[in-house]
Amino acid sequence: MFVLRLIILLAIVALLMWLLKRLFSKPAEPERLDSGKGENMRQCKYCGVHVPESSIVTVNDQPYCCREHADLDRN
Ligand SMILES: [Zn+2]
Repeated sequence: MFVLRLIILLAIVALLMWLLKRLFSKPAEPERLDSGKGENMRQCKYCGVHVPESSIVTVNDQPYCCREHADLDRN
């Protein structure tokens, strides 16, 4: 069954190529997202959206995604 072996071999090669592609393309992604991924995420007290700690607005020790929501929550 030479043809069957050839098909299996081709399938294995295709799988290996796909795995190698994934291995080489994956490390590039976390690097791009590194600035946002390494940071702690805080939840806006008003709308519940998750914001990186550096962009959070803190009013009366409460985290908000923006100044507007801090003002809206106070009123
Ligand atoms: Zn908000």
